[in-house]
Amino acid sequence: MRDFLLFVEKRDRFAVGLFKQFSIEETPTRVLIITPNLEYKKWVLEYIKNRLKDYGKEIRVSTREERAQEDSGLLPRFSFENFIVGPSNEIAYRVCHEVAKNPGSFSPLFLYGGVGLGKSHLLHSIGNMAKSLGYGVVYLSANDFSERLIKSIKSGQVEEFRSKYSQLDILLLDDVQFLSGKERTQVELFRVFEYMHARDRQLVFVSDRHPKDIADLSERLISRFSSGLIIEMGLDEETKTSIIRHKLLEHGLPQNEEHVRYVSENTGYNVREIEGLIRTLKLTGFKKKPKDEEGKEQIVLRLVARSFNLKPEDLRKETKERRVINARQVAMYMCKKLLGMSYAEIGRLFGRADHTSALYSIRRVEEKKNSDRRYAFMLETLEKNIRKNL
Ligand code: ADP
Ligand code: MG
Repeated sequence: MRDFLLFVEKRDRFAVGLFKQFSIEETPTRVLIITPNLEYKKWVLEYIKNRLKDYGKEIRVSTREERAQEDSGLLPRFSFENFIVGPSNEIAYRVCHEVAKNPGSFSPLFLYGGVGLGKSHLLHSIGNMAKSLGYGVVYLSANDFSERLIKSIKSGQVEEFRSKYSQLDILLLDDVQFLSGKERTQVELFRVFEYMHARDRQLVFVSDRHPKDIADLSERLISRFSSGLIIEMGLDEETKTSIIRHKLLEHGLPQNEEHVRYVSENTGYNVREIEGLIRTLKLTGFKKKPKDEEGKEQIVLRLVARSFNLKPEDLRKETKERRVINARQVAMYMCKKLLGMSYAEIGRLFGRADHTSALYSIRRVEEKKNSDRRYAFMLETLEKNIRKNL
């Protein structure tokens, strides 16, 4: 029997029967009791306050529903085992592995680098391993962090929001470049940072750029992000080749020199792109040119850009210029509507790190379409024009 239940039994032979009905997770430092509903939770909290204060571990109580919300955000398919290591990612890999085994050993850890280099993969790997060792871990993107914060403010539950993060052993925050300009989120993250850091908990941040290059980020966050280990991730030829071999094998495709070279020559330094091409090759075979669809994407970009008096390449620019942002949103919307691309593919086409910017942009266009007739008309005309050219 678990230590906790033994302890309760010594105190109170009747209460232990009730506790046995709850799911109880116990680690060396804490106990989590999951109750079926709020009534039970209240009872347990009261009981702990009166009788179990001296157990010597932190005791947390959650209802089943709260527990589901506390979902760690981890994707089990990403692990250290299926991460291919080479000169360009070896340091990052080793440090992450160490962090998973010994949270707090390199905190804060800041990983940065371009799209598709395995940053998110490593974050999930840390989380999955640490979780299996019994640590409390949460993975989320800076955007999700921000959204949850806003939701908690609206529902008057900021304290709950805070307490959730303060109970973690490891916080894995992805795509922190999206903190840019989000002042309230930055304030709140700073609090979480200070709290966790003071207790030697582990913080891991991932970004597509160095902390100093994130625009509209508070000085104090820049300084905290920069206060630990900062590792730049890249992809060199040797690692790229080795990844291509593994992925070809994984998809049951031949791994000879010719095939490896073909994939290598038709992809940049981006593992996501490599995976995409290999998936296409699996369907089309090696004979067919894999970039057929690109023609259509280029047509959409060209026509949308033209209608906004821009050049196609402007649509990928990092800028606050409204016209460019507007045009990009429309282009994303057309890619979805006319080419049926996924949010992730659209994000990639526009050089965005994940699918949320595409999702958000397309929603914006739909909202505007429904509320602004002139805008709706503009879209309709543009859509007809693109259709004619596809
Ligand atoms: P990032 O977060 O840096 O943009 P991801 O972690 O999302 O990139 O990686 C993109 C894809 O490439 C994922 O499917 C991931 O599993 C794969 N990938 C990236 N690096 C590696 C690697 N070293 N070994 C195996 N798969 C990798
Ligand atoms: Mg990522």
